[in-house]
Formats: sequence, structure tokens, C-alpha cells
Amino acid sequence: MKKNIAIIGAGASGLVAAITAASRGSKVTIYEKSAKIGKKIHASGNGRCNITNADITLENYHGKHPHFAKEIIKFDAKKFFNDLGLQLRFGNGTRLYPYSHQASIVVDFLGYECKRLGVEFVKECEIERIEKENEHFVLHYHDRRFLHDALMIATGSAAMPNLGSSESGYHFAKSFGHTVEKPFAALVQLTSDDTVFTKASGVKMEADMEIFVDNQAKMGVRGDLLFTSYGLSGSAILDLSRTASRATMRKQDVFIMIDLLPDFSQQALKTLLQKQLPLKLPLYLWLNGIIPKKLIEPIMIAAKLDTNKPLNSKTINTLSYTLKNLKVSITGTRGAKGAEIMAGGVSTQEINPKTMESKLVKGLFFAGEVVDIDGDCGGYNLHWAWASGYKAGCGLSAKTAK
Ligand SMILES: Cc1cc2nc3c(=O)[nH]c(=O)nc-3n(C[C@H](O)[C@H](O)[C@H](O)COP(=O)(O)OP(=O)(O)OC[C@H]3O[C@@H](n4cnc5c(N)ncnc54)[C@H](O)[C@@H]3O)c2cc1C
Repeated sequence: MKKNIAIIGAGASGLVAAITAASRGSKVTIYEKSAKIGKKIHASGNGRCNITNADITLENYHGKHPHFAKEIIKFDAKKFFNDLGLQLRFGNGTRLYPYSHQASIVVDFLGYECKRLGVEFVKECEIERIEKENEHFVLHYHDRRFLHDALMIATGSAAMPNLGSSESGYHFAKSFGHTVEKPFAALVQLTSDDTVFTKASGVKMEADMEIFVDNQAKMGVRGDLLFTSYGLSGSAILDLSRTASRATMRKQDVFIMIDLLPDFSQQALKTLLQKQLPLKLPLYLWLNGIIPKKLIEPIMIAAKLDTNKPLNSKTINTLSYTLKNLKVSITGTRGAKGAEIMAGGVSTQEINPKTMESKLVKGLFFAGEVVDIDGDCGGYNLHWAWASGYKAGCGLSAKTAK
């Protein structure tokens, strides 16, 4: 007789695990608290779903023991989706997207395959508590009890609760004796109390940025930067946000140094400014030709210069330095409500990486963001969800083989 598998969470990892286990002969039921499946997939990649990346290495993954992910991430996500009939294409370098650039179609393909394989969905059912009675897992929802032989927790993280996220996976894991590494927001906007930059709110540009923690340079990136009323956003800021989030949580001093004109060396910028001297232009006019208007006042305040005065040989050094070294202090992040993902989660020391089964409780599996592995921006988090879901699906179905 087939064993009866429960998966909590119809998100990226849960759906792939269900397909994998069901295609290997298991009876699978997915419990989902929302009325819809794959809500986060729908919202991913600005509605385009950056499904995976053609350049996946262990360097792209983080956590207390990132090495845990080494074999799991070798999963061929492109082949998996191609085999379902979904075509992918490149965008933004090595990032892969569904060919139609519609995130919703990814959910449609996964849902279709689940139905074809007979996976049962119990929607609008937020599992509240789980117990183990002898060989069975008992899932509780109000006064209902669901009995299963094996269980996978694929509840994701608390990032963006408006998309159905919850912390319940951490609570379930703890109730079975698992350690949960403290979750913290990653791929998230950063907050600053340098109020001068609120004047530049809405300015979006490409820049080089370097993050400093306790005055030590930690990481540099080039990419989109967006000044906001609360601080900084943009894809390059998301790349720096994990470091900023962890450091501010530890009460360390964090700032970001912005090079607003990365295409000029400081010397080239000085030479350019020297050439402008005979024109005797007021600073604001010259600056308007090179950076967005709303940034001028914050730059002048940072450089302690007067915009109405013309450029002179004394101010050239100060101005060229400030344009290439604009310092923004960071106080924290926008937290779970603004985060694409949460770092931290169920300790990988207590999970078998070959099967995703708990080392503490037989028949209990984990996959996806609830586990203490998080990836860089660029399709790495969905890749982790598919890959760990696949691994767990294989583990679950191996358990069910008689
Ligand atoms: C706005 C946004 C954009 C993103 N874009 C990208 C991108 O383009 N590329 C990329 O790689 N990553 C992206 N990510 C990250 C990626 O979506 C997640 O890492 C991934 O979805 C995690 O998969 P998961 O299966 O672990 O969890 P989820 O996909 O979050 O699924 C968890 C499911 O569990 C359900 N659930 C939770 N608790 C319970 C309970 N107690 N009972 C029943 N059901 C429950 C939830 O409703 C949810 O459906 C994005 C995230 C966000 C928020």
C-alpha cells in the first residue's frame, strides 16, 4: 500500500516536491493556507519570475553552513521545466525566465502537473499544530485532524507576509526539537537616518557601491540604486542588504559609499572640472548636466559647497571626491514586510542533505526558504526552492517505497 505524504505549503519547494514524490508513486496531499497556490511565484521577478540562473555556484548561497547546499543546487531546473513543457529564455545576462515572461504561467505548469499526477490540494487550510503519534504525523486545523505517514514542511519564510508568508515553519521545526538560526531580512531595502538624502527620493541611477561594516569594506557592487524617503533601494542595494541586515542586527556601524560617476576615475573627473573653469558656470548648472537634479542639494550639503558659486580650483577636489564617495549611514532594513527573502531558518546541521530528512525525527522533511540557506538576487532563491524540493521529493518517495 502507498504511504500517505503530507506537504505543508503549496509554494515553489512544496509543488516541486509533490510532483517529484507523486511521479515516483507516492500519494501526496498539499495543505495550503491561501485559496491560491504559488502566490510568491506569481509575484516573483516583478511578475516575470526569474526562475533560475545558468551560472549557479556555492558562492551564491549563504547560511551558517552553506556547504550543505553543494550537491543539492546541482539540480537542473531548466531541464525540469522543459520536461513539463515550459520554455525558458535568458534575460539580464545569465538569468532565466519563462519564455512568455509571465510568472503566473510557472504556477500554471506546476499546478497542471500536480493535478495530472493526482496530487490532492487542501486549500484555505492553515495548519496550526503538528504532532507525531507513533509512526504517524497528525496535522491540526481547527477541530480537524489529518493523519500522514511522512511530512514535509515547505512553509517558506516570513518575508512579505502579504503574500501568505508565515513563521509557522520555524514553530513546527522547534516543536520537533530542531534548532532555528535566527531569521533576518535579506534582499531588502535599507533604512537611513541621513535625512538629507530624502530630498533625492525617487532618483534612480546606476552607481558603484561599497558596504562598510565597522569601517571595513565588505563588498562592492555596480547596479541600480534608488534613493527613497526611508533610505536606499534598487537591485544593487538588495545585493548588499544581507551584509547590512546582519551587521545592523549586531549593532555594528554600517555605511554605504556610493560612486555616482563610476565611468570617471577621480583624476579624470578633476581634469574635466578643470576644463570647465573658464566658463565660470554656477555649480548647480554644471552639476545638472551630469547628475539628476534632486541629488544636487544633498551632494552640496555633503561637500559643504554653495551651488550658486562658480566652480574654482579649490572646490574641484572636494566636489570630485564627494561625487565618487557619497557616504550614506545605514540604520537597518525595511524588515520582513519589505524583504524578498529571509536568511536564517532550520539548522542544516540537523538535516540530511541527501534526502532533506530531519536527523532528529524520522519521516519529517524540510525544503525551501524555511531551511537556513539563502541565495543571492538573480534566480538563486527559486533555484534553491526547486532544488531542495526535488531532493526532498526523492527522499519522501524513497521512504514510501515498500
Ligand atoms: C516579491 C518577491 C519577488 C521574488 N522574486 C524572485 C525571483 O524572481 N527569483 C528568485 O529566485 N526568487 C525570488 N523571490 C524569492 C522566492 O520567491 C522564494 O525564495 C521562494 O518562493 C521560496 O519558496 P518556498 O517554497 O520555500 O516558500 P513559498 O514559495 O513562500 O511557499 C510557502 C507556502 O506555504 C504556505 N504556508 C505557510 N504556512 C502555512 C501553514 N501553516 N499551513 C499551510 N500553508 C502554509 C504559504 O501560504 C505559501 O504558499 C521573490 C520573493 C518575493 C517576496
